[in-house]
Amino acid sequence: MAIIGLFVKENRILTPEEVWVPLRRKFGRLGLPSVYRNLDTLAGCHILTQVHQFDNKRYYALCHARHDHHHHHIVCTSCGKVGEFEGCALESVRRVDGFKVLRHFVQLEGICADCQ
Ligand SMILES: [Zn+2]
Ligand SMILES: [Zn+2]
Ligand SMILES: [Zn+2]
Repeated sequence: MAIIGLFVKENRILTPEEVWVPLRRKFGRLGLPSVYRNLDTLAGCHILTQVHQFDNKRYYALCHARHDHHHHHIVCTSCGKVGEFEGCALESVRRVDGFKVLRHFVQLEGICADCQ
């Protein structure tokens, strides 16, 4: 609950370390591996989503859509806020160059309304 609360308050992508620092202040003995485990679990439940950035760090953000609802995320390059979009055109792509398509990964980057 504390992790979800932090993501709601920060309203941006966070690394496990960025989650760990304020929570450690609150819970004292909390270890970083435990934060990693919790983030993994929350991502598995589609409460969080893993976000790709080009600095080789792991990032997470809140995911607001139902897990069975096909959607992707857009990340603000200025503040790290995450939005969601539906109606992905790749959903209808079933075959590519002889391949049967199983899944795809899409993430958009942009500038959010507050940062424009
Ligand atoms: Zn989402
Ligand atoms: Zn922004
Ligand atoms: Zn899609």
